[in-house]
Amino acid sequence: MLIQWYPGHMTKAFRLMEKEIKIVDVILYVLDSRAPFSCVNPKFEALVGDKPIIYVFNKVDMADKDKVDEWAKYFSKNNTHKCIMLDSTASGSGKKIESTIRLVLKDKIEKYKLKNINTTLRAMVIGVPNCGKSTLINNLCGKAKTVTGNKPGVTKGKQWVKIASGIELLDMPGTLWPSFDNKKVAKHLAYIGSIREEVLDIPELAMEFIKDMRAMDQTILENRFNISIDEEDENLEVLEKICESRKFLVRGGDYDYDRGCLAIISDFKQGKMGQITLESVGEIKLLIKKDNKREKE
Ligand code: GDP
Repeated sequence: MLIQWYPGHMTKAFRLMEKEIKIVDVILYVLDSRAPFSCVNPKFEALVGDKPIIYVFNKVDMADKDKVDEWAKYFSKNNTHKCIMLDSTASGSGKKIESTIRLVLKDKIEKYKLKNINTTLRAMVIGVPNCGKSTLINNLCGKAKTVTGNKPGVTKGKQWVKIASGIELLDMPGTLWPSFDNKKVAKHLAYIGSIREEVLDIPELAMEFIKDMRAMDQTILENRFNISIDEEDENLEVLEKICESRKFLVRGGDYDYDRGCLAIISDFKQGKMGQITLESVGEIKLLIKKDNKREKE
C-alpha cells in the first residue's frame, strides 16, 4: 500500500472545522495549483452548506497556467463560488482576496448597509497540508503571525485578525484531511508534499512518478536530469539513468537508488522541474466516471 492513514485524525479534524464554519461568512479554500482536484475533499462540501467559497489556486507560480485556467472554470460553476490565482509568497498578492470577499458577500454587505448596521465579515482559511495556508494567512495579515514550514501541520494558536476594514480572518487555518479514495489522488497529494514523508514509501512513489511523468511529458524528466529516455526503457532503467547523471553511486559502483528516488520526489516538490499541473479537467472527469462505474458494479 502506498499510503497508510489513520481515520481517527480525519474525524477529529472535521468535527473541529464544523464548529468554526458556523461562525464564518466565507471560506478561503486553498488549493495547490499543481493538483487542484486532489486538494478538494468531497466530504467537506457537506459541512459548508450554502456558505460562499473562494477557491484560492495557490502556488500558481509553480503550475501550468492553461490547466489552472481550466480548473478555475470548472470550480466557478456555482454562482456563490469564485476562484482566484495566487502566489502567496509574493508580497501584497493577498490583496486580491479582500476584493473577492467583498464581491461574494455583496448581498450581505448591501443588506447591512440598508439597515445601517456596522458589521464585520469573517473568513477562514482551509486546505490540505502544505498547500500554503499559513503563507497566505501571513500575507493577508501583513506580518508573520503564524508559523510556516515545508511540512504538513505546523500551525498553532487561534485569534481573529483584521485584514481590511470590516473583514476579519481566523489566524489559524483548518487542515483538511485529504481523501485517499482514489490512488491517483493519493499519489498527487504525495507528490505535492501534502502527506508526511514518514508514512510514504519513497522508492515506490518515485517509480510511480517516473511512470506518470513518462505518460504526461517525458521531456520534464529528460530536461531536469539531463538524460534521454527511450520508449523501450523500463522505469527502473530511467531511475538508473537519473542516478548515473547525478553520480548517485554506492561503493562498488552500483546505483544509489534511494538517493535517486529522493531527488525525484524532492525536486518536484520544490518546483525544480518547471511549471507543472498534474491534473487536467478532461482526465479527471474520465477518472470519476470510471470510479462511479466501479462502485455500481
Ligand atoms: P500549510 O501547511 O498549508 O500551512 O503550508 P505553508 O504555508 O506552510 O506552505 C508550505 C510551503 O509552500 C512553504 O515552503 C511555503 O513557502 C510554500 N508556498 C506557499 N505558498 C506558495 C506559493 O504561492 N508559491 C510558492 N512557490 N511556494 C509557496
